[in-house]
Amino acid sequence: MAIKITDECINCGACEPECPNNAIYEASEEWRYADGTTLEGTVVLPNGNKINADENQEPINDEYYFIVTDKCTECKGFHNEPQCAAVCPVDCCVPDEDNEETEEQLLAKQVFLHKDA
Ligand code: SF4
Ligand code: SF4
Repeated sequence: MAIKITDECINCGACEPECPNNAIYEASEEWRYADGTTLEGTVVLPNGNKINADENQEPINDEYYFIVTDKCTECKGFHNEPQCAAVCPVDCCVPDEDNEETEEQLLAKQVFLHKDA
């Protein structure tokens, strides 16, 4: 499953540079599917949604750092464990039980996000 950040986040920023998928953003920050991935232009996501990878998206949280579920692979394909959870000083990067995915799905998502890598 993807990882999420809880309201215990102290906005320290330690996790953001560790994410290999650029899935972590600061509170109130606009985000793009294209950030840190090879996605560009019109793209159909694995979940069937059609998006524009270059378009700015609304912030998901205005108070603390957030993870874009569609971009989080739980670090599969890059690392053995979620890097955000490994560095978070207050252990608020936790499994998102509303977004459960199998290892195969997470690995497929990693390939999807970094097609030419
Ligand atoms: Fe990024 Fe890995 Fe954390 Fe997901 S688990 S947000 S891919 S650092
Ligand atoms: Fe928040 Fe933890 Fe990330 Fe710091 S490392 S910004 S406390 S989620």
